[in-house]
Amino acid sequence: MHKGLPLWSALLLMMLTGRAAAADALEALFAQDRRLASVAGQLLEANAPICPAQMPLTGMILHSRDQYAGDWADPLFTQGAVAIAQILPGSAAAMAGLQPRDGLVAVAGQTPVATGATLREAALALLTSQWRPGDDLHLQIRREDTLREVVLHPARGCRAVVEIGTGNGLSARTDGQVIQIPQELSTAASDADLAAIVAHELGHVILQHRLRLEAAGVDKGLLGEFGRNRRLLRQAEEEADRLSVHLLANAGYDPASAPAFWRSALGRRVGGGLLRNRAYPSPERRAELLDDEIAGHLEIGAAFHGAEHLVPLRDQPITGDD
Ligand SMILES: [Zn+2]
Repeated sequence: MHKGLPLWSALLLMMLTGRAAAADALEALFAQDRRLASVAGQLLEANAPICPAQMPLTGMILHSRDQYAGDWADPLFTQGAVAIAQILPGSAAAMAGLQPRDGLVAVAGQTPVATGATLREAALALLTSQWRPGDDLHLQIRREDTLREVVLHPARGCRAVVEIGTGNGLSARTDGQVIQIPQELSTAASDADLAAIVAHELGHVILQHRLRLEAAGVDKGLLGEFGRNRRLLRQAEEEADRLSVHLLANAGYDPASAPAFWRSALGRRVGGGLLRNRAYPSPERRAELLDDEIAGHLEIGAAFHGAEHLVPLRDQPITGDD
């Protein structure tokens, strides 16, 4: 599960080598976060009509003081404990004139309060709960120690926080709310790869796999250890793969980038190897399944791919039967 403490833990090591190294590590991380947010934003917006829940796409990447250990991060939070880390060009936040280091004081008059997770999580929850599609979003921010009221006109997107994840490795994952892409994977991936990876994880979110697997009694701690669990997880993987090509097409990405990813050296590293968990299809099998889905179910030139043969599965129990 997501602990609300993404990415930054790797930076703790850097603290030992000083502020300059920490600043460099942070900038490398920010670069990946920016790229990921831009790729994911397209997928979240284009596929909003088939997502089970919505959120405003503000274009601000937030962070909070409680995500960092050490006083080196203090200068990022002179305007408040929740601050803007980055602004995506052309986004609602950019149009409204928001800037990195602005403090986020309130959303629709409510101040974020951390309850268990970080202040950043609380702020993200407020942004979602205080907004309905079509509404303006009223924010209070602090800049140069002065409070300001700002109105955003955000687009509607699928509700999912997409972020660079903590730790090493090449496995993207989602708990149904947060999609995490490890920095190592993001750095190695092209934009087309990244789109294919995010589309697969968004497929899990849209098809509500976390809920359906829990309802079926799958214990992720026993991942693939028993035959039934393995069948259920494999079914979820295949459903997410199939849906991913429709999500890519809706967002203006080439659906063929998904099978191409699994056939690439990076895709084979991500999904292959002797230690591959057999709950997951092999990279070759995934690429073939994706080819089949494109050939059999993707209507060329359609204005929107509703994937009516897949999306309704989210209301059905997951059985592991083909
Ligand atoms: Zn998956």
